[in-house]
Amino acid sequence: MLIDITPIEKLDFDSKGARFYSVPFTSDGMWARTRLPLYVASSGKPGNTVLAIGGTHGDEYEGPVGLKNLIQEFDPDALVSGRLIVVPVFNVPAFNAAQRASPQDGINMNRAFPGNAAGSITYRMARFMTDELLSRADVVIDIHSGGVGYEIARCMSFHKVDDPEMHKRFKETAFLFGTPFTMIYTGGMGTGLLTEEAEKMGKITIGSELGFGASTDYWGVRWAHQGTLNVMRHFGLLNSPIVDNTKPGLDRQRLIENTDIDRWITAPVSGISEPMVELGTYVTKGTPVTRIHDFDRWDEPGVVIHADVDGWVLCRKFRAETEQGEVVMVIAEEVD
Ligand SMILES: [Zn+2]
Repeated sequence: MLIDITPIEKLDFDSKGARFYSVPFTSDGMWARTRLPLYVASSGKPGNTVLAIGGTHGDEYEGPVGLKNLIQEFDPDALVSGRLIVVPVFNVPAFNAAQRASPQDGINMNRAFPGNAAGSITYRMARFMTDELLSRADVVIDIHSGGVGYEIARCMSFHKVDDPEMHKRFKETAFLFGTPFTMIYTGGMGTGLLTEEAEKMGKITIGSELGFGASTDYWGVRWAHQGTLNVMRHFGLLNSPIVDNTKPGLDRQRLIENTDIDRWITAPVSGISEPMVELGTYVTKGTPVTRIHDFDRWDEPGVVIHADVDGWVLCRKFRAETEQGEVVMVIAEEVD
């Protein structure tokens, strides 16, 4: 049963058992409240806190669906230590509008961190996440998917870190999900990211790209759900053994990296882009990877772009219509 909670001081993160909270945030510019869904299951004993978040962007569905399924099926009595906190949908106004950013203030939640208690609604929700949820977590899982513009090979992700011990812990946590790839991403994507804030707070922080195109990916939903359970097993919240969530036929999981934005492949001309290699496949330097067609000159061949490196096709432009200068493909190299 939903518990409408206000003020937030009444949230109970510690008692044994599970609670479904609805945390209200006063809307900007209208007489209404946005309700943030918040699930807390505690063992009532010390231990690690795993925090899983879906719907940081409102048009990505694998996180919300996978985490909703997880909560529905979860037996809080199975917790042997610590606690699970789940926000199945974080940017609720964006989710309700099926768009990336909030229609209330136009803000992208994943650029709003650490948030601002005196700001517009997205900043206030980010502040709540930072102060009340990230602060309590040991492990933070922020489940994303490619948006409507790009298809990304299904992957978990984490930020490039210099400390080899932290790198090892991030990698082993990310591999628990079973995705074929784990991508190391760069800090150059902007500021105010949820994951960067969590990482700054010293949390083991994992992101993902579990689908694309505002759809609901079959495997993406399963990885969000089963992968989070594996993380709970790994960090001692559950006694059950780790489950292999890799797709049948996968030879091994790979850690890949292309953090140099300057080397992402861009379109030399405008037109209709055509992938010449499949997403997630291995290509060698010089392989034709994308062709851009100019249909005003349909009598001429398209402009062919070649791979500048040996590596895995991590990302391709999904919407065919392409402007000159837009990224059309990203090829990533395998790393340890
Ligand atoms: Zn996203």
